[in-house]
Amino acid sequence: MKTIWIATRNEGKVSEFREMFSKLGYQVKSLNDLAEPVDIEETGDTFEENARIKSETLSEMLQEPVLADDSGLVIDSLNGSPGVYSARYAGNHKSDADNMQKVLDELKDTPEEERTARFICVLAISRPNHKTEFLKGTCEGEIASEPAGENGFGYDPIFYLPERKKTMAQLSQEEKSKISHRGNAIKQLEKNIRELF
Ligand code: IMP
Repeated sequence: MKTIWIATRNEGKVSEFREMFSKLGYQVKSLNDLAEPVDIEETGDTFEENARIKSETLSEMLQEPVLADDSGLVIDSLNGSPGVYSARYAGNHKSDADNMQKVLDELKDTPEEERTARFICVLAISRPNHKTEFLKGTCEGEIASEPAGENGFGYDPIFYLPERKKTMAQLSQEEKSKISHRGNAIKQLEKNIRELF
């Protein structure tokens, strides 16, 4: 099986990529598979910049094609926050539960119709001697009033999908991948995946 390197340490993302790429005939390796794990600092102000930093750093290290995902939750009534700061919204070293609680506290007086939000995923693909390429996927939803569901990671328990009457964390991983921001970005990659990896 061919390998796709993904510049992330987030096992939630790795698990989703592993499922999606195994269907396309690829195994996945991440920063956690390196003999000496590296932390790549995300110093950009946009999803694109951060995805580029991650994919180019690992691709230069390995001299292999690399995929990176920079993603996050964009909440309209918070002017787009937490956005690129989604992973550390409640502070460095805080948990997913802390991040969700911060969002719920900030939205406690916000009525249902103003709780619209979306997940955004920007994929960067870096290959030796090629310009980095980008793909973007989104998924629309609302912020629930309390967490529900055990699956997924990050903000999934408070991301409500009105058409399904479930949070993202109440979907199986396979169901999530069909509609998620990450799944939507990967669908665009499928067309020319053999040329890239
Ligand atoms: P990144 O490593 O900077 O891309 O961080 C992405 C952060 O956005 C994650 O740590 C989560 O908090 C959030 N996030 C991204 N994708 C998802 C998802 O599919 N479900 C829930 N939260 C997500």
